[in-house]
Amino acid sequence: MKEVLADIQQVSVRFGGLWAVRRVDLQIRSDEILGIIGPNGAGKSTLLNVLSGLQRPSEGSFVVAGRVNPPPWVLASLGVGRSFQTVRLLRGGTVMENVLVGGHVHADRNLVDILFRRRVWKRSEQQLVERAREVLNFVDMAGQESVIADHLSLQERRRVEMARALMIRPKILLLDEPTAGFNPQESLQMADLIVRCKEAGIAVVLVEHNMRVLMRVAERVMVMDNGEKIAEGLPEAIARDKRVVEAYLGG
Ligand code: ADP
Ligand code: MG
Repeated sequence: MKEVLADIQQVSVRFGGLWAVRRVDLQIRSDEILGIIGPNGAGKSTLLNVLSGLQRPSEGSFVVAGRVNPPPWVLASLGVGRSFQTVRLLRGGTVMENVLVGGHVHADRNLVDILFRRRVWKRSEQQLVERAREVLNFVDMAGQESVIADHLSLQERRRVEMARALMIRPKILLLDEPTAGFNPQESLQMADLIVRCKEAGIAVVLVEHNMRVLMRVAERVMVMDNGEKIAEGLPEAIARDKRVVEAYLGG
């Protein structure tokens, strides 16, 4: 049974005189890959920022587990993880260090332990390292724990970023153009990884420019243009939608 994990109700985001997102309604359900497409500047990244709490809606509400417009750290503890349009890794940090950063939300729950009980702290650190190995294995990066992240290829850095988001065992994973800069083969490998996330019980919100990837993996697609939702439905229906074709072809 699909459950509504997050509910966006009439959300708008304004930057000065510009409405980056306008009165969008959207539900994120468990066990699905929701695709978001739209031309550049449509408001896709801004909407993902709302979903991860980085951007507070100017109007409307975003509800997760009964919390309205929760801040990023609360969202993370409720199981919302994300990656960014441009890869954001620690310069000079190893793959392991970069992935461990993602585990801090859970570690903070044991702050008292960390401060007063070094033995317990050591144990939880060990658990984090174990979890990091698990997620690196999941994204096909096993054995690269001690490589400096700057030395990795773009594809590998994206995988590390995804591993970091997976550390909190997210219920919802937000991906902003995970195949940007990839060749067709790399894009299809990313598509496979996204499907694997879904099979692991994670709802994926995928902002994607690559129509081939999107149509291959998304079960439901929302189309944005000029901040507004202009269509929502099954991928096959969306590909034929007149407004969608116009928005893409500049009609
Ligand atoms: P997309 O990801 O679909 O390309 P964005 O959400 O990045 O679109 O941007 C939507 C619109 O909001 C664009 O016109 C963009 O220039 C504007 N915008 C995005 N972020 C900001 C910001 N922090 N300040 C001002 N304008 C912004
Ligand atoms: Mg964007």
